[in-house]
Amino acid sequence: MPLRLLKFALAQNHPEPRMFRQPDRLQSNYDAVIIGGGGHGLAAAYYLARDHGMTKVAVLEQGYIGGGNTGRNTTIIRSNYLTPEGVKFYDESVRLWQDLSTDFDLNLFYSTRGHFTLAHTDAAVRTMRQRAEVNKHYGVDSELVDAAAVQAACPEMDITCGGHTPVMGALYHAPGSIARHDAVAWGYGRGASDRGVEIHQQTEVLGITTQSGRVTGVQTSRGEISTPRILCAVAGSTPRLLQMLELRSPLYIHPLQAMVSEPMKPWLDPIIVSGSLHVYISQTARGELVMGASLDPYELHSTRSTLDFAEGLSAHMLELFPFLSHVKIVRQWAGMADMTPDFAPIMGKTPIAGFYLDAGWGTWGFKATPVSGKTMAYTMACDRPHHLIRDFSLERFEKYDLVAEKGAASVGH
Ligand SMILES: Cc1cc2nc3c(=O)[nH]c(=O)nc-3n(C[C@H](O)[C@H](O)[C@H](O)COP(=O)(O)OP(=O)(O)OC[C@H]3O[C@@H](n4cnc5c(N)ncnc54)[C@H](O)[C@@H]3O)c2cc1C
Repeated sequence: MPLRLLKFALAQNHPEPRMFRQPDRLQSNYDAVIIGGGGHGLAAAYYLARDHGMTKVAVLEQGYIGGGNTGRNTTIIRSNYLTPEGVKFYDESVRLWQDLSTDFDLNLFYSTRGHFTLAHTDAAVRTMRQRAEVNKHYGVDSELVDAAAVQAACPEMDITCGGHTPVMGALYHAPGSIARHDAVAWGYGRGASDRGVEIHQQTEVLGITTQSGRVTGVQTSRGEISTPRILCAVAGSTPRLLQMLELRSPLYIHPLQAMVSEPMKPWLDPIIVSGSLHVYISQTARGELVMGASLDPYELHSTRSTLDFAEGLSAHMLELFPFLSHVKIVRQWAGMADMTPDFAPIMGKTPIAGFYLDAGWGTWGFKATPVSGKTMAYTMACDRPHHLIRDFSLERFEKYDLVAEKGAASVGH
């Protein structure tokens, strides 16, 4: 352990953190309380302060900021979704991402790589064509390409997949990008804090109080707070929070795992996804290969990782890239994905006045961090849903008015 880190651990007084203020005490009341210091909660706080002048706001985080799915994801950013609602929403997010490093004056390592979703069957080729047409209709840069184009962009790939499931083509999405996830939490945290928002880490919400059908405050591990507005942005913990209000949702929680390799010289520029093989891969600026697959096939509130996952993912990865057989895996982890039946988020108002929900981000919510923050801040400040999120309301499940995004949101993130 470096001496500086040891000294820091043993010190009685720690200097103020570099990125944001950390007030000692909670105030007794705030104009808004945000539960969850992930990217979504922090982004909502940032836009509430920046765009709506609402600064008496507390973000309450049970652990440390970005310690949930925000700091565990594989950072794929794209807008090549299947439904008009999804395409318009994620396209706005991609636009916001492109200016975020400048907005924050912080390098998020936002890197546009191009994104290939491989098709290994005729049916998959048809779906990719459909997605490309929907995307183009809404001005999103996507096209169906043949196997030769995939091979040209990624000469290291065995497009025959060892003869099992040859690549027949792909959906190519030029704006597909990656970014540094923890810096996103820090950037939003610092931006919100500089504008007066208080960020309280190690502060767990244990209960929510209501009166005559509207929220009045929260009980926390550090005392009670009154507030007329609460945003719940706790991803995999959403069912636990909703239980406090006896609200029902169709959310179910599955572990989602990922792993990284030792660093290699740069060889992989684009992001490669194969829904049929259940794998995806990108290479970071540090040279690590970031790899993931689909959800664990059972409901579980856990961030435990498994050998099964590492074995299964490696086997499929070697079908595409046999030369990786000597490469070492250095880290593996899991997050808790809050899944909806239609693979679209749940955003907006709820039957309890003043209680706003930002959930159902499953395996695809990192890319939505800027647009979810911006639209939820608007929804809270104006008490009416932003037009981009109207179709994502909780009540759509009662009306069977689903968004049907599964074809574009599962393993592809
Ligand atoms: C392995 C993996 C890979 C992924 N890959 C991608 C990808 O490539 N692209 C993509 O777009 N998305 C991806 N995702 C999904 C994405 O990570 C999430 O959808 C997104 O990060 C959710 O952000 P959030 O701020 O809503 O939640 P989180 O970052 O999980 O933040 C919620 C916070 O709430 C806190 N909290 C919970 N309960 C309480 C309480 N009672 N009191 C106070 N605080 C509380 C938690 O500690 C946590 O910090 C991936 C997810 C995983 C797990």
